[in-house]
Amino acid sequence: MFDWTHDPHRRFNPLTREWVLVSPHRTDRPWQGQTEETAVDHEPAYDPKCYLCPGNSRAGGVRNPPYISTFVFDNDFAALKPDTPVERFDQEGLLQAESEPGLCRVVCFSPQHNLTIANMDPSDLRIVVDTWVDQYLELGARPEINYVQIFENRGAMMGASNPHPHCQIWSSHTLPNESAREQASLLEWRERRGTCLLCEYARMERSAGERKVEENDAFLTVVPFWAVWPFETMVISKRHMSSIEQMTAAERDALADILKRTTARYDRLFNVSFPYSMGFHQRPTDGQAHDEHHLHLHFYPPLLRSATVRKFLVGYEMLATPQRDITAESAAKRLRNV
Ligand SMILES: [Zn+2]
Ligand SMILES: [Zn+2]
Ligand SMILES: [Zn+2]
Repeated sequence: MFDWTHDPHRRFNPLTREWVLVSPHRTDRPWQGQTEETAVDHEPAYDPKCYLCPGNSRAGGVRNPPYISTFVFDNDFAALKPDTPVERFDQEGLLQAESEPGLCRVVCFSPQHNLTIANMDPSDLRIVVDTWVDQYLELGARPEINYVQIFENRGAMMGASNPHPHCQIWSSHTLPNESAREQASLLEWRERRGTCLLCEYARMERSAGERKVEENDAFLTVVPFWAVWPFETMVISKRHMSSIEQMTAAERDALADILKRTTARYDRLFNVSFPYSMGFHQRPTDGQAHDEHHLHLHFYPPLLRSATVRKFLVGYEMLATPQRDITAESAAKRLRNV
């Protein structure tokens, strides 16, 4: 008899249309809920050496204003520049390149150096949500911008260069790979079945419950059935909406609420300020309706068994297929129990 909780199997991600290998028998050793005494963050509320703190100077000598709420500025080391001229070449289909105009911004969540989403007041987090909406609209309205990617890298383990709570917004002329892939899947699903893939998925997860981590009036956090990272989650809007500016005021509050509650669970899991990369997927800003998109966020945290043991995507994962040991269901259970 095949046992889904024990026997090796693969699961399909309908958003990326890729498979993940699940090998739960490799974690037969009992879960020990290990929490190590790691360097608990004792960051000060203000760090005179931090280039994101209010009043401090950044690279190039620009000085931050004495901001008291969220603070947005153009990235001093932007990967994309708005005045990039349009150019493209194609050599026999083998060497293809095109110019990529864009604009990169940084959003400091708070003037306080040592606050994370998990520790912020809901009313302050709501201001961050409002800032995301404003930036999505402002950047998306620019003629050269067709996609606005909002994302946060949290923790040195994920390559975040500064502990000051902030996210980045990279807006580009073209649709990035991940969004392009999801868009194709969402479109094809809609054409074939006449429904929204993520509306259907959210409905299924709400009734199943076994992969659910958090839920409020407007949003749902689940460890997706096809998760690759050990404690990967998706935050999905319960109502069909294609982008963040379609949220009502109550839904903006609900987003702040579920982000706080989800990241607080992460922090409690291994008793550490949990590292992750997270970000939104939503419709492009190319002027089309793109009703096939369904607003959601992905959290990709690297930690596996403790605050110090991380997962690497190497070897088989690089050359063949991503693989995980604990099932999505047992990861969700652990997150629910902290
Ligand atoms: Zn700072
Ligand atoms: Zn939907
Ligand atoms: Zn997505």
